[in-house]
Amino acid sequence: MAFEQRIPRDTSANLFAEAQEYFPGGVNSPVRAFRSVSGPPLFIREGHGSHMTDEDGNRFLDFCCSWGPLIHGHDNPHIREKVIETVVKGTSFGTPNRLGNQLGKLILDNHRYVERIRFVSSGTEAVMSALRLARGVKGRNKIVKFDGCYHGHVDNLLVKAGSGLATLGTSSSAGVTESVARDTLVLPLGDRDLLERTLTEHAGEIACIIVEPIPANNGLLIQDKSWLECLRIKAWKHDVLLIFDEVISGFRVGFEGAAGLYNVQPDIITFGKVIGGGFPVGAYAASKEIMDYIAPVGPVYQAGTLSANPVAMAAGLAALELCLEPGFYEGLAERTAAMADRITGYAKEKGYPLHVPHVGSIFWLAFGNERIERADQIDPANMTYFKTIHHELLQTGVYLGPSGYEVGFVSSAHTDLDIQEAVAKICAAMDVAFS
Ligand code: PLP
Repeated sequence: MAFEQRIPRDTSANLFAEAQEYFPGGVNSPVRAFRSVSGPPLFIREGHGSHMTDEDGNRFLDFCCSWGPLIHGHDNPHIREKVIETVVKGTSFGTPNRLGNQLGKLILDNHRYVERIRFVSSGTEAVMSALRLARGVKGRNKIVKFDGCYHGHVDNLLVKAGSGLATLGTSSSAGVTESVARDTLVLPLGDRDLLERTLTEHAGEIACIIVEPIPANNGLLIQDKSWLECLRIKAWKHDVLLIFDEVISGFRVGFEGAAGLYNVQPDIITFGKVIGGGFPVGAYAASKEIMDYIAPVGPVYQAGTLSANPVAMAAGLAALELCLEPGFYEGLAERTAAMADRITGYAKEKGYPLHVPHVGSIFWLAFGNERIERADQIDPANMTYFKTIHHELLQTGVYLGPSGYEVGFVSSAHTDLDIQEAVAKICAAMDVAFS
């Protein structure tokens, strides 16, 4: 389908052409290339509050929020001040620093599900380290993951379900060896019997179960609390560790993330995104007993040159201080629900096959009218609707992540007026997509 281009994107197009000379596909992370939608990716020049501006001077109401970290919007003054105050004193010393202590304390004082934390520099690194920790604690190789959950580009987790039910994984990326993939068992979300059979059949081989408690990388596949409780109970029963990957949900759906929202105690939690206030920070956390397996106390090695560098710690500290203000999460969730429910209501009224599931300040444009809980319930054919909606929204100044499988994020910088504007524009884009 050819789209009518009503906003200038020439500067972005030229910069993208230039970028092809430097980076594979012109990008430093694949989805940025806009391959699932139309036109060249936007080269963003700056962002303030709920908006960002591209190199052509177009202004967009941003619901991607850098893929989740920017829970306070762009250029938040409190975060900016802390960062500037810190950066002028030097950016990295490779030593412990006071800001790291402060961020560690703030988290542990306000999160009932963890007792010790280790900072790293990305969500992927957090997950990779958590898996090593689980294997180190249990002395076993295999892990269980679920189809539809993304955990970063860790070798062991770039694995898809093979044929058959209790599948041994097969690699889903060149460069991930079959021997690594074979240690990953991939199960469908929500299948309790299969989980039980798998844990029984592989007794003594499995170190951990890893799950996104709120899967938000393949659409937003909101799970029942009872499924998360089942994971907890089965992990205990079979003596394996339960890892909640809260890189998206951590500090996003509440300060205690999904663990707090569902009141389920995992053994290890991984964090990323919001925890760094827009800087590269990840972390993994657990009980003192489990974290004491990590070097220099224990035998599991993990290190990082820029881990807990003061600038990133200052940004994370400022961001999480704001999250702890009374009513912060309630306000965000209300605004998100208002937006999502109005869009769903409009679609229903018009008979459009779309609804907007949401949790906390995460939402997703889901095609069809049925609740979607597993990746295989998503019909890829519907992504043509998303392409049209995405294109229309760019023309009217609203930015969603450039793929129909991506969720959107509302930040505290989004005002009620922003929400009203977004609802009107998303409804108008639906009119075009479904006409
Ligand atoms: N885990 C989850 C649940 C994620 O959503 C992501 C990234 O989107 C990651 C891990 C990897 O984080 P990063 O991109 O910071 O490496």
